[in-house]
Amino acid sequence: MKLVFSGAAHEVTGSKHYLEAAGKHILVDCGMEQGKDLFENQEIPANAADIDYVFLTHAHIDHSGLLPLLYAQGFTGSIITTEATYQLCQIMLLDSAHIQEFEAEWRNRKGKRAGAEPVVPLYTTDDANGVLKHFVSCRYEEIIDICDGIKIRFIDAGHLLGSASIEIWITEDGTTKKIVFSGDIGNTDQPIIKDPQYIEEADYVVMESTYGDRSHGERPDYIKELTDVIQKTLDRGGNVVIPSFAVGRTQEMLYFIRQIKEEGLIKNHDGFEVYVDSPLAVEATNIFNRNVPGYYDDEAMALIDKGINPIKFPNLKTAVSSEDSIAINSSTTPKVIISASGMCDAGRIRHHLKHNLWRPECTILFVGYQSEGTLGRALIEGAEEVKLFGETINVQAEIRSLAGISGHADSEGLMKWISAFKQKPQRVFIVHGEDEVTDIFAARIHSELGYDAAAPYTGWAYDLLTNECLASPEPVRVAPKAAARRASAVFDRLLAAGRRLAQVIRRNEGGTNKDLTKFTNEIYNLCDKWDR
Ligand SMILES: [Zn+2]
Repeated sequence: MKLVFSGAAHEVTGSKHYLEAAGKHILVDCGMEQGKDLFENQEIPANAADIDYVFLTHAHIDHSGLLPLLYAQGFTGSIITTEATYQLCQIMLLDSAHIQEFEAEWRNRKGKRAGAEPVVPLYTTDDANGVLKHFVSCRYEEIIDICDGIKIRFIDAGHLLGSASIEIWITEDGTTKKIVFSGDIGNTDQPIIKDPQYIEEADYVVMESTYGDRSHGERPDYIKELTDVIQKTLDRGGNVVIPSFAVGRTQEMLYFIRQIKEEGLIKNHDGFEVYVDSPLAVEATNIFNRNVPGYYDDEAMALIDKGINPIKFPNLKTAVSSEDSIAINSSTTPKVIISASGMCDAGRIRHHLKHNLWRPECTILFVGYQSEGTLGRALIEGAEEVKLFGETINVQAEIRSLAGISGHADSEGLMKWISAFKQKPQRVFIVHGEDEVTDIFAARIHSELGYDAAAPYTGWAYDLLTNECLASPEPVRVAPKAAARRASAVFDRLLAAGRRLAQVIRRNEGGTNKDLTKFTNEIYNLCDKWDR
């Protein structure tokens, strides 16, 4: 009975945990690393072909995104998850495969000209379609006999439609241990989906800590803020453009806008149009509509009972084809446009920004976290000009954000979740958090609850029968990209240019505000152009 940590150990993405139990080889999640990567992940001690089961907590790519690769490497086992997660994976894994293929094609087009070796995509749409045939879906709360010695149960984690914490009972030689994997733990009072459910017993807990050191603060009145933005923008004759994640956040926005329309909160713009312009968001919305029983919370169910679809309303329009998308900006009627990607670094949202950013009557409303280096972040930080499709666009639109909106529990929510265990687990493993946050949160539950808590690094292994640490290899930090590429003389020149830029910046200290602003914007534009 062995547990080995592979991904999302002292990191926020790439969830992948390996269990050897009752003679079977099991993965809990098989996620892709996204964004900043700190440590070289240790391989799991099994071949893909030897993995019998994957228990999948939810559909987000940082938990499911490497399943097609596992399949390409020979996996033939079963992936057990909830029905809604299965349906969301059908669209999200295919979307991810398209992105892998598109990126490889783009690099090859450039690489060919430079005589470089061809790049192959990490996986293909065939791999995604292949792995989808291995899914077996289940309901929340039912105990499933996986095989001799292994039972599991999915409990609603309230993070995304279909998301779950997973309870696993393993029996070896007459001894049973229960391990709980939290998955991503949801925020409370999110529209549509339920609040996270609590679990009361476990010998071991593997728990996320994304917001382990932070509070979301008091929950703002989103209906009031959204009404204010829409009213003012439509009054000015402008469009409200909402960059939004296609799965989850888009449906929350539709829920809010339905309520705003139903309560008649927007004056003088009867029946204003709302466009969802993202094929993935449209498909995800259909999946939300299909999966009502068992997944929606009481409020959403009360609407359904009254014959109201919580995420549908008059004049909600969806754009699937690129012609539909282009047509949106050809009409001058003020409207709301929801499009992806949420951080504006790809997708159709960039076209809507091109058409609306320069218009002072419009508003760009951010409804999610914007990572460093993205166009969304640059806009929030006050960029005055941005480059889109080779054109310089003057930022005249109003830039707003709905603060504190999150699908993750904050530190208090996480404490509430772990405090629900009636008896002290033998050990709590803290994963899925930024490097130092995992340590901070492990220390907190040790000091406040007296739990034995550890924040394992990738490659760490534990015997769950004896609660012994079997291996704790030193983590290997990922070499900074710049150092890895230093061999190239051309790249060295670029680095030298960067150092010169830093010198020039320092020499400009004390310059006029106007000059400094202009210089800053030019640097942001340069970064936007080359940050890919
Ligand atoms: Zn997630």
